[in-house]
Amino acid sequence: MQTNFTPAQLEDPHVAESEKILRKCVHCGFCTATCPTYVTLGNELDSPRGRIYLIKDMLENDRPADAEVVTHIDRCLSCLACTTTCPSGVDYMHLVDHARAHIEKTYQRPFMNRLTRGILAAVLPYPGRFRLALRLARIGRPLAGLLRRNPALKPFAAMLTLAPRRIPARSAYAVSGSVQPVAEKRGRVAILSGCAQPVLDPAINDAAIRLLTRLGVEVVLPRGEVCCGSLVHHMGREEQALASARANIDVWTREIEAGGLDAIIITASGCGTTIKDYGHMLRLDKAYAEKAAHVSALAKDITEYLATLDLPKQMPRALAVTYHSACSMQHGQKITMAPKLLLKAAGFTVRDPAEGHLCCGSAGTYNILQSDISDALKARKVKNIEATRPDVIATGNIGCMTQIATGTATPILHTVQLLDWAYGGDLPEKLRHLPLG
Ligand code: SF4
Ligand code: SF4
Repeated sequence: MQTNFTPAQLEDPHVAESEKILRKCVHCGFCTATCPTYVTLGNELDSPRGRIYLIKDMLENDRPADAEVVTHIDRCLSCLACTTTCPSGVDYMHLVDHARAHIEKTYQRPFMNRLTRGILAAVLPYPGRFRLALRLARIGRPLAGLLRRNPALKPFAAMLTLAPRRIPARSAYAVSGSVQPVAEKRGRVAILSGCAQPVLDPAINDAAIRLLTRLGVEVVLPRGEVCCGSLVHHMGREEQALASARANIDVWTREIEAGGLDAIIITASGCGTTIKDYGHMLRLDKAYAEKAAHVSALAKDITEYLATLDLPKQMPRALAVTYHSACSMQHGQKITMAPKLLLKAAGFTVRDPAEGHLCCGSAGTYNILQSDISDALKARKVKNIEATRPDVIATGNIGCMTQIATGTATPILHTVQLLDWAYGGDLPEKLRHLPLG
């Protein structure tokens, strides 16, 4: 694609990077076929190609964002299906990140939209505040129907609907320190505790820690770790996201210098995609660029790391697992086979749903801020999953688990919970009602 930036504009490294990305796009439109918003809405401006044109026009003309650009960029899930499909290697992720930051700096959103986004950014990344918000949501749940009738209040209705009916107790591992292996030691890793996940489902990291220590890996839970920054990063709140990244890099760098780390384990693929991008996010920060690149290189999804440990093959079990590949897993991190191969080796029958490349509509805060499109995508995803007649659904991202669970009665677990059970752990609570013989 031809671009027309001036030399003065290209002195801004963010603009220079976006210009390079834009030049790679050859307008072929292959990406439209796999874009969930184009598939749902059928509007070119809600396709990757349409958004690329809007971003190009806005940046080239040095214009503040307007309502049209904001509408179509806000509808983008950042699912990155377009990057998997694109034959020219267009780095849409960093282009849309730049556009979102530009929107945040130059556009005054309507009051209710600003308020909603402000609340989400002030609550979700902080486990204590998030836990309190979930308690309040339980009380407010009966109001969801009423709130849904007012378009400006729909996000609050979505929050109430998504909030779990039961808030699990805190994990026994919810203190910083180190969990020693119970077999001969063969590794040392840190595990990201995260922000929303330990409140919504602490059983996920508990399973990962049990499994890793049983396999001979010491697991460190470093003091001072914060949210990875992904939630606010996708809202264009760049400074808040970078502050989180720097805080975590300091924490992990201390740990690397103190005892060495083979990996930084992440059990939520949405967080993994962002942490693997820290090196890029902080490339212009002289004090952090090198440390950030090192942290990104050490970041591993739990299944990526487990795949290196050569787990023994287990006897088959009569349990059909439909694997939902989170967008951040398959498109963001390009991890497609490891989770399924691990589940198969652990004895499960693994099934793939149709349209596995399409997002479930969760996408961070998308299911709150864009609940209509999100609901349509959820219904499509659940229909495709249920057509495979699973006993259980497995996935690697808490956002997808929360989203899909509100649309089906089939139990949904994190992949590592099934692996923990298969390799000596207890039967996960969500499966206790199943006749497992
Ligand atoms: S990130 Fe997803 S929703 Fe956004 S343009 Fe690409 S395919 Fe479409
Ligand atoms: S597939 Fe790639 S090159 Fe083709 S229009 Fe989409 S982003 Fe541009």
